[in-house]
Amino acid sequence: SDLVRFKVFDEYVAEDIYYRKQVAEQLKNALSDDLLHLNFMPIYDSKSLKVEAVEVLLRCHSDGLKGVGPDVFIPVAEEYNLIKAIDLWVIEATFKKIKQERTLLADVPVTFCINISSAELHNVSFSLHLGTLLDKYQIRPNWIELEITETSFIETDSSSIQILNEIRSLGVRLALDDFGTGYTAFNQLINYPIDCLKIDKSFIDNIGSQNSTAESMIKAILLIAKSYKLVTIAEGIETRDQYHYLAENGCNFMQGYFLAKPMDWQNFRALLCSPQSESLLTKLQEPLIP
Ligand code: C2E
Ligand code: MG
Ligand code: MG
Ligand code: MG
Repeated sequence: SDLVRFKVFDEYVAEDIYYRKQVAEQLKNALSDDLLHLNFMPIYDSKSLKVEAVEVLLRCHSDGLKGVGPDVFIPVAEEYNLIKAIDLWVIEATFKKIKQERTLLADVPVTFCINISSAELHNVSFSLHLGTLLDKYQIRPNWIELEITETSFIETDSSSIQILNEIRSLGVRLALDDFGTGYTAFNQLINYPIDCLKIDKSFIDNIGSQNSTAESMIKAILLIAKSYKLVTIAEGIETRDQYHYLAENGCNFMQGYFLAKPMDWQNFRALLCSPQSESLLTKLQEPLIP
């Protein structure tokens, strides 16, 4: 029976390698054929319910990658050495959009949160490229926040910390994404040059579940963040109860399907232009009225 298991395992792995190679091929073509596309997910201030920021999320519209999300194709891009080109593409496409919409954004300023790969923690020219693009599109650096997953910090050394410091000295803020899924000891946070913690969805999912440690973890994270003067964002808010729990415990910002799903620029633009907090307030309070 061991033999059977191995055989199945082999076939699975072989198939997976073949699949990933195809995804990489498609991605490479998408980059050169301009088939990459940005979605925008609103991030709300917990108190005012105003859109204060937006997370930029990558989508790929090539025929071979229909329905394949960044959770699949970003790791492939990292494996096939396409990630640096993709990260720069996303940054440049975002900057172009900001420049194009500068009049609107002067009225309703929002922070643009852009995900970058852990590969950039080992890319000594990243901050130079970033600085060049900021200049080229005349972007105010304090409108930009870069998100790096907590797990990428496992392999950080002094040169990675230097790269992060270079990014911050441009005036761009840094957020630790998917916080709680890595192994950062709370006392280590003080050594990271970061501005913001994004609490991972897995904690949010367990709010209200019986005898879960998630709620005490969330409270501890919020307390630590406050004492280190880090801004907090919770991701993956799917219910009204999760929203209220986080708001009551002092989480600064929130994003999730309950508030708004990722959308294209036209819809995000419309949201920015409309008095949205009214309707969101009703949505939040409606079910509380018996
Ligand atoms: P992330 O940075 O943690 O982004 C949040 C992901 O969770 C997004 O998925 C978003 O659509 C999803 N999400 C947010 N709220 C909810 C919710 O309430 N319910 C559910 N079920 N999902 C929610 P997406 O767009 O598939 O992105 C997945 C990951 O891929 C991102 O995780 C990020 O790590 C990576 N990624 C996305 N865009 C880029 C990019 O432009 N560059 C790089 N390097 N990575 C990217
Ligand atoms: Mg993110
Ligand atoms: Mg995240
Ligand atoms: Mg994630």
